Amino acid sequence: MAIAPKSNSPKNAGLEVREKLGWWRAYRFLILRRLSQLSVVLMFLSGPLWNVWILKGNYSASLLFDVIPLTDPLITAESLATGYLPEWNTLLGALIIVAIYAFLASKVFCSWICPLNIVTDCAAWLRRKLGIRQSAKLPRNLRYGILAMILVGSAVSGTLLWEWINPVAALGRVFVYGLGATLWLVLAVFLFDLLIVEHGWCGHLCPIGATYALIGAKSIVRVKVVDRKKCDRCMDCFHVCPEPQVLRLPLNGKPEDSQIVLDKDCISCGRCVDVCAENVFTFSTRFEKEKRII
Ligand code: SF4
Ligand code: SF4
Repeated sequence: MAIAPKSNSPKNAGLEVREKLGWWRAYRFLILRRLSQLSVVLMFLSGPLWNVWILKGNYSASLLFDVIPLTDPLITAESLATGYLPEWNTLLGALIIVAIYAFLASKVFCSWICPLNIVTDCAAWLRRKLGIRQSAKLPRNLRYGILAMILVGSAVSGTLLWEWINPVAALGRVFVYGLGATLWLVLAVFLFDLLIVEHGWCGHLCPIGATYALIGAKSIVRVKVVDRKKCDRCMDCFHVCPEPQVLRLPLNGKPEDSQIVLDKDCISCGRCVDVCAENVFTFSTRFEKEKRII
């Protein structure tokens, strides 16, 4: 099969790897992520649909197999900020989540679990396909300021401030309970990302993503550049990465800079691994120097 000419156009990101290495190789982590995200939705729906309660509750607080509590760490932090000590099960649920995500991989909740990631990925894909290049500039660390404001605001107001406008919970309610009343929030995020700021919501504003970035800052599984010399500067990885700034140092840095993506904002989605026709990236660990694990 003829190999497509190299292109720096965002519209054609991924075309070369598809033609050179095949469809599965070009989309494997994207497909696995979607299966993971949809499995979580199905685990919530298994009770109402088949009377088998795998997950009971919602994305903010749930019970796994009616035994293991799982709680959103941001809600727990807000609750503590208001001065209210949540019940033991809620605290244990938050501790379990923090332990899992601190250990596993950077922001793995965002790319493998969060339902809103499907929406923001769709907006980014449509931006590329429509050739929308203009984007308002926002600082990437604004999300950490918003996180701090939410905690201070919760302490001052005595309410769980973020939960009034949490679009992740809103989309969860749509999937799990079929409630469409808050769908406008999800639509607003989609349009914001599509028309106003590239990767605007997840890459600049979302305080849940910021919380998971802080939790997973020292987590183990990391994307790694196998060999900088193999890179032919096609830019496909930068076009598809929702946090492209995290690739700069490992890929284009000085010889002494680490070739492991250690930035806490990397969401471990694996799109750079998928999309690179030169096999420049792999999943590895933060301790690994040479060996690939995938
Ligand atoms: S940044 Fe927020 S909305 Fe985006 S994937 Fe992460 S938790 Fe979900
Ligand atoms: S790492 Fe791969 S996808 Fe990224 S610019 Fe280099 S060749 Fe292209």
